[in-house]
Amino acid sequence: MEIFSYLGKYDYEQLVFCNDEASGLKAIIAIHDTTLGPALGGCRMWTYAREDDAILDALRLARGMTYKAAVSGLNLGGGKTVIMGNPKTDKSEAMFRALGRFIQGLGGRYITAEDVGTDVHDMDLIHMETNYVTGISQAYGSSGNPSPVTAFGVFRGMQATAKAAFGTDDLAGRLVAIQGLGSVGMQLARHIKNAGGELIVADINEDSVRRAVDELGAKAVTVKDIFEVECDIFAPCALGAVINDETIDKLRCQAVAGSANNQLAEEKHGDALHRKGVAYAPDYVINAGGLMNVADELEGYNADRAHAKVDNIYNIISNIFAMSAKDNIPSYLAADRLAEQRIAQMRNVRSNYLRDEKSLHR
Ligand code: NAD
Repeated sequence: MEIFSYLGKYDYEQLVFCNDEASGLKAIIAIHDTTLGPALGGCRMWTYAREDDAILDALRLARGMTYKAAVSGLNLGGGKTVIMGNPKTDKSEAMFRALGRFIQGLGGRYITAEDVGTDVHDMDLIHMETNYVTGISQAYGSSGNPSPVTAFGVFRGMQATAKAAFGTDDLAGRLVAIQGLGSVGMQLARHIKNAGGELIVADINEDSVRRAVDELGAKAVTVKDIFEVECDIFAPCALGAVINDETIDKLRCQAVAGSANNQLAEEKHGDALHRKGVAYAPDYVINAGGLMNVADELEGYNADRAHAKVDNIYNIISNIFAMSAKDNIPSYLAADRLAEQRIAQMRNVRSNYLRDEKSLHR
């Protein structure tokens, strides 16, 4: 892999290789952009087939975090850590404490959090060596499980999407098809039910489906059929890449709004949704509630303040649809542009010389 040409192409700031032979730690920390503030992004542990795959994953995910934080109005940049290893067999106290020391060595330019393959316990181990970590145990003042907060943000984003698609954000009487009734999907289903909406659901976990049917009066369909049910809003809350060559023509909805990451298999599928007149809530914006929640820990966690930030996802999604309509561009592109605009504007704001710059950013 031509590392510097890739870093140059997307204007990355820093790529850090962390090696601790004794514990077996092989980690890569990617910092994409710190214009808005310290780079925050989770620590993923995964068995990568090749080193290049790990490097590319760290870089790609770090850049995604820059956009997510920027469009969410957070004063944070984008970063990510990947640990090369099997999260089931290779973890140890020494490994995460060694990583904590490498993070400490970055002096606050990067702050880590949980991600695929890591958990609260791992964050607590990192916390023994550095304060630049979020998502630690609640006993240390952390924000706890992000899923209910994420679900609330998705619900608010769904209301804004309904407004763009139907002219009203009232979900009463709207039929929403939810794919995936996990931590986020089930809670989202409750919000929709409380707002007077109706539910069609699918999950590979039969217990979850039964619960939604019994508790919420949902109609159940197979995991295959969920893509083709006639509904107002399709809410992908399970897997990535669900809007793809195979599914795009099957969808019989007027809006897509759900929590799953990377819903578009490729950007061309976002273009296709736009052409079809389907209002698509960009995934990294509508599911930013968890990030907003965890980011609040950096100011001393306050649940009310975090809730207010997540509530604002309604306005952010509304602004995206407004730009999409004004410039006739797909909503995913409008979201990227809003993020880029904010970074450019704040870079300009901060170009003003301040004598006490150092103390301001302590
Ligand atoms: P989860 O693992 O709790 O739930 C996922 C659900 O999807 C499970 O119930 C699973 O059985 C179901 N599922 C898996 N394959 C399926 C299939 N083929 N068809 C239908 N259902 C299937 O995960 P979660 O925390 O609820 O997150 C859901 C999505 O939202 C994920 O893509 C996640 O990355 C994203 N997300 C979550 C958060 C958060 O705070 N939890 C934040 C941002 C993004």
